[in-house]
Amino acid sequence: MKFATKAIHAGQEPDPTTGAIMTPIYQTSTYVQERPGVHKGYEYSRTHNPTRTALEKNLAALENGKHGLCFGSGLAAMDVLLKTFSPGDEIISSNDLYGGSYRIFTKVYQNYGLKFHFVDMEDTSAILPFITAKTKMIWIETPTNPMMNIIDIAAVAAIAKKNNILLGVDNTFASPYLQRPLDLGADVVVHSITKYIAGHSDVIMGAIVLNDDVLQERLSFLQNATGPVPGPQDCFLALRGIKTLHVRMDRHCENAKAVAQFLVAHPAVKKVYFPGLPTHPNHDVAKRQMKSYGGMISFSLKNDELEVAREVLSKVKIFACAESLGGVESLIGHPASMTHASIPKEEREKVGVTDSLIRLSVGIEDVEDLVADLKQAIESVVK
Ligand SMILES: *Cc1c(COP(=O)(O)O)cnc(C)c1O
Repeated sequence: MKFATKAIHAGQEPDPTTGAIMTPIYQTSTYVQERPGVHKGYEYSRTHNPTRTALEKNLAALENGKHGLCFGSGLAAMDVLLKTFSPGDEIISSNDLYGGSYRIFTKVYQNYGLKFHFVDMEDTSAILPFITAKTKMIWIETPTNPMMNIIDIAAVAAIAKKNNILLGVDNTFASPYLQRPLDLGADVVVHSITKYIAGHSDVIMGAIVLNDDVLQERLSFLQNATGPVPGPQDCFLALRGIKTLHVRMDRHCENAKAVAQFLVAHPAVKKVYFPGLPTHPNHDVAKRQMKSYGGMISFSLKNDELEVAREVLSKVKIFACAESLGGVESLIGHPASMTHASIPKEEREKVGVTDSLIRLSVGIEDVEDLVADLKQAIESVVK
């Protein structure tokens, strides 16, 4: 089956009791057993819930993976993955990443004895000097947040395989429609379902997809043993969102391309970070590993003052000033004071998150309206 067909059908059989075409919201904590231990495959909803099972199977199918596991948030998914490691283990991570990921690495798991190295992986050979006998995972985000750097997944997978290290990819920005890391040699894919996959800014959820049976068993044990599972109504909303993932993504990509072109041509704009631009340093890698370039854009203004950038955010009328991304509506953010505020200023600036950097999650509205909105906001601030 191809992607759109899987998005709509994978994991979802008509309900066996009524024939309902949509997977019901199994709003139940427990399941009646005929006799102790004799049941229909479900005992308690922390362990399994039919609505969640449908979603987990669907997500596995979309990533061309064998197993899917859902969690109460993207960070809960990362938390469970990190629990598979032991004190002394080392993880090499890309250096430009989601602020919450940086926070869970440095402020939580560092205290439990894991060691993290943050590396600019645009040139993948930069990873090599950090590999030791203790390295257990390489962790990448691509496109990166918020600088839209592109990391060559297949090249990192080759390094990981050769050194017997797990490769984990946060595929949130691309979604499985645009990029499938397992096909490129990654071992584990993590998603914030909250973003493009659910797609309507109405749910917080995360997932892990993988092929390996042994790691799946461990993750599944931890999912049940530590309990960070999503409720069935949220699983239903995610399933509903996924049915239009491919259609939404096509429009996100198309709109983002037009917005990026407008920004590149605007005299007040200093730099535009978007992998779809031929001038992007790793445009060729993006072209090879992604179906299209996504809906996320960052840009900076020639006037590099914090207050000027913040003023643009207060002048937009259609773009909403908010954290998060990947919903049908357009959002605008200021990483230095919002999503990346938890990263110290000097660390931020090392990776390019300057005070004037503005990040856009381009939605699926009419693109003429989006461009006009940005134009009036920028021009009302930068005279
Ligand atoms: C939002 C996000 C996360 C965390 O997901 P939550 O669902 O908010 O916990 C992780 N990685 C990336 C790239 C994200 O954008």
